[in-house]
Amino acid sequence: MTDALEKELLGSGASVVGFALVKPALSNEIAHLERAVSIGVDRNLNENSVRSLVSLQKKASGFLKSNGYKYLCIPPDSDRINNTFVSKLYNLFTHKIAATSAGIGWIGRNGLLISPVYGPRLSLATVLTDAPLKVGTPVEFSLCGDCRLCVDFCPSKAITGKDWSRYEPFIELIKSGNCSSHKKISRSVNGKPNCGLCINICPYGRKPVQTVQAV
Ligand code: SF4
Ligand code: SF4
Repeated sequence: MTDALEKELLGSGASVVGFALVKPALSNEIAHLERAVSIGVDRNLNENSVRSLVSLQKKASGFLKSNGYKYLCIPPDSDRINNTFVSKLYNLFTHKIAATSAGIGWIGRNGLLISPVYGPRLSLATVLTDAPLKVGTPVEFSLCGDCRLCVDFCPSKAITGKDWSRYEPFIELIKSGNCSSHKKISRSVNGKPNCGLCINICPYGRKPVQTVQAV
């Protein structure tokens, strides 16, 4: 069943799919849905990654339902502010827990999920379920290594430079107040609400710069 679901999601446009046991991270009301399907799409290839993720979640939930299992779709990260009933479910569970538990990547110094292939450029969604899916091996430690690019170049000094590990999930990686103040100033000065430098600068998953040969 796990392989069939993975094949269906990859065939429908998912960039990565992983399966995880997440019981310790669940609140009581959803503790029976102890496994997670973690779905990532490459933002570079998806103009509307929220729409792609919602469609992939529908595929996954349809598959699980037709096999007789329960499920709960946690909305995509970037969908959390649209104030619909569904978007409010976002607070129930963090996608990064599913993705790291499934072995898709680690949490970088920039506080984002880093995939070895896509870097911090994946948009994530999760489907929780009681289906007995075969789970992946969790990532335990950060693989940022000696890299400090995001720390050194963050314009607001928001990135503390600490290393994430599964055993210290609440370590302060980002001073979120610094980051949001910087974005607020940026919005008022040049109309750009986002910074994103800590995504663009990360060497993981960055496309090589195209060089033009002189003729
Ligand atoms: S978005 Fe910009 S200000 Fe915020 S943590 Fe990343 S680099 Fe720093
Ligand atoms: S830029 Fe370097 S330190 Fe920052 S998240 Fe990426 S790999 Fe880690």
